[in-house]
Amino acid sequence: MASLDTLSARDIAAGVAAGDFSAVEVAQAALDAIEQRDGEVQAFLQVSADLALEAAKATDKARAEGKELGPLAGVPVAFKDNMHLIGTRTTCASRMLENYESTFTATCVQRMLDAGATPVGKANMDEFAFGSSTETSAFHPTHNPWDLERVPGGSSGGSAASVAAGEVTISLGSDTGGSIRQPASLCGVVGMKPTYGAVSRYGVVAFGSSLDQVGPFGRSVEDVALAMNALVAPGRDPFDSTSQDCPVDFLEHLEDSIAGHRVGIVPALMEAEGLSKEERAAVDAAARAFTDQGAELVEVELPHVASAIAAYYVIAPCEAFSNLARFDGVRYGYQEPDCSTLAEQTSLSRARGFGEEAKRRQMLGAYLLSSGVYEQYYYRAQQVRTLITEDYRRAYEQCDVILMPASPRTAFRFGEISDPTQMYASDMFTISSNIAGNGGISVPMGLGADSGLPVSAQLQGPAFKDRSLLTFARALERSVGASPVAPAFVGRGGELQ
Ligand code: GLN
Repeated sequence: MASLDTLSARDIAAGVAAGDFSAVEVAQAALDAIEQRDGEVQAFLQVSADLALEAAKATDKARAEGKELGPLAGVPVAFKDNMHLIGTRTTCASRMLENYESTFTATCVQRMLDAGATPVGKANMDEFAFGSSTETSAFHPTHNPWDLERVPGGSSGGSAASVAAGEVTISLGSDTGGSIRQPASLCGVVGMKPTYGAVSRYGVVAFGSSLDQVGPFGRSVEDVALAMNALVAPGRDPFDSTSQDCPVDFLEHLEDSIAGHRVGIVPALMEAEGLSKEERAAVDAAARAFTDQGAELVEVELPHVASAIAAYYVIAPCEAFSNLARFDGVRYGYQEPDCSTLAEQTSLSRARGFGEEAKRRQMLGAYLLSSGVYEQYYYRAQQVRTLITEDYRRAYEQCDVILMPASPRTAFRFGEISDPTQMYASDMFTISSNIAGNGGISVPMGLGADSGLPVSAQLQGPAFKDRSLLTFARALERSVGASPVAPAFVGRGGELQ
């Protein structure tokens, strides 16, 4: 009997197309798995069973009519809850949007549906994507499927956990400073942040508009490549002026040899303070896997990357402050009742609608953009941004991809990191590629020798070379194997009848 625990996205689409099983059966299996597993994982804020069955029925009907099915036909998919989908609430895990019903569907979501995917629900996240642990969700935390007492990472923690627990085959997340790659690392799944502009942001609630990028999670590189094709192949989205055409097939060179190619290593990052022994060992193992397959390691420098977190925590809060100003307690979102003045209504609605971290970011942004302060911080942070972008440009003259850690440490316990600035360090290896706009991918490297928790390696590449990132990621996967569903959840629902 087939199970969603072991079927890849390609297996599911092929099985549905061949009539081995129906899309409705697959949807039912995913809903069963969620029923059996999500009480413990809590990856979902909303399960959209009706939408899932409706989409699956449409897929089965198309097949019965002899129509050609999409490459994700019947594949169960979860969407981070900052992505609009008609028929669902889009809450950004915030009280501010607790009852907000989507009035349109985001381009990234629509493209997955157009490729035949079955939308099973909306995934938990840090409030408005501020965070690295999903603990700032206003509704509930999500638990790491590898150890329920630990966080799944964040902010796309629900998206990562839903794939790691085998509740869905693919999910989408968004990454402003590391929110796809860090939770992928902590949950032992593949997570990719494509180059800025490769995937449309239309219909994704904005955090830092110059940094945000949507990308997929999967348990194999191939599943992620299939999702990338669905997201990117239809071309530039006229609704997002920053989106670009990337006319490539992400599956085409997936199995290519990497022999003779150059993999950059940044010595300063490998010695970075705060990098755990286990994560360091995982990156060393990845380096060996590359040389075993004939690649050459070269040392490169990214001298300004040490300032990336500082620059990010100026630029991102400024953009967040500006983006979240629309939640004014008047037009939509939480509205405080019985106020005597408009000013009081706005102020109380914001005070009660936003959580602590969301307030901290907006206050920081308001301060940093104020006159006199702006020149000192925002302006300089943008100068640092240019320096970091130049660092990468020079480094990529010497190598095809850069290998580095994705997360400084394995999954931590709930409440273990309470100091916000320590939490901000979770993204020390990911943030610089958002600043430069380049792509990055976190690839599972098995389990840490001491902790038994997932460890990973990150690959970053030049802008719009996301296909080659996938080829190198696939090379690593050849040496480590695809990522399994977290053992505690295998076989609990998810069987195709
Ligand atoms: N952890 C970072 C932050 O809190 C990045 C979040 C993200 O990528 N959305 O801002």
